[in-house]
Amino acid sequence: MDKKSIIAGNWKMNKTPAEGKRFISDVKNIVKDVQLTEIIFFPAYTGLLGTQLNYPFHLGAQNCHWKKSGAFTGEVSIEMLNECKVEYILVGHSERRQFFNETDGIINKKIRSIKSSNLKPILCIGETIEDRNSGLTEDFLERQLVRGLEGINSIENFVIAYEPIWAIGTGVTANEEQIYNAHSFLKSLLKKLYPNTNNCPILYGGSVNTKNAKELIQISGVDGFLIGGASLDLESFISIIKDVENFGR
Ligand code: PEP
Repeated sequence: MDKKSIIAGNWKMNKTPAEGKRFISDVKNIVKDVQLTEIIFFPAYTGLLGTQLNYPFHLGAQNCHWKKSGAFTGEVSIEMLNECKVEYILVGHSERRQFFNETDGIINKKIRSIKSSNLKPILCIGETIEDRNSGLTEDFLERQLVRGLEGINSIENFVIAYEPIWAIGTGVTANEEQIYNAHSFLKSLLKKLYPNTNNCPILYGGSVNTKNAKELIQISGVDGFLIGGASLDLESFISIIKDVENFGR
């Protein structure tokens, strides 16, 4: 992975296919000359087909099933996503864990399947407020990371997103020290687990917006952002892209 910052916009269950295509086209027109930033759009499944993007713009899926095919009503396989020109897949987002009962075991199955395809996973991890208040943040993050990556012998092309659950969609952002500490901890843990991996990007996610992006991107160890709410609004998303382009690594 090169040294560019990454901005991943997770639209969740928002934007119709037509709205999404218009949004992407507007973003591409406005920030077509970014040099130091890669931008990944995560529409709903329905917005993937027919959305072809060229570097530094990429297409991502918010979820996948780990099986190749079969009787899994409502699910979508990695092969299907591949045919839609998807490059990245989000795995383990806290909303999947919380509302769809995804366990570390399920997340690991998805990670293994993505690994054996040519797509790239973005593994999301993050502590609850209870764990943080009990001083258990690092234990929690280590458990999620190690379980999610069980059986994976190389994390080439992987991305990790550190998203404290209490900061997602709440308007409360983790502070500089909390983010620095979590990213440093995860970087050294990854180095220990995968000594041959140079630099697996770690994104911060949790109420990133136009007011805090410039400051947050300058925290050492922050390689980009995973953004929910602020990735839906053109002006906000563009403003964040410009801040990352100008003040990122
Ligand atoms: C997210 O959904 O991953 C996220 C970080 O959301 P928000 O930016 O709205 O907090």
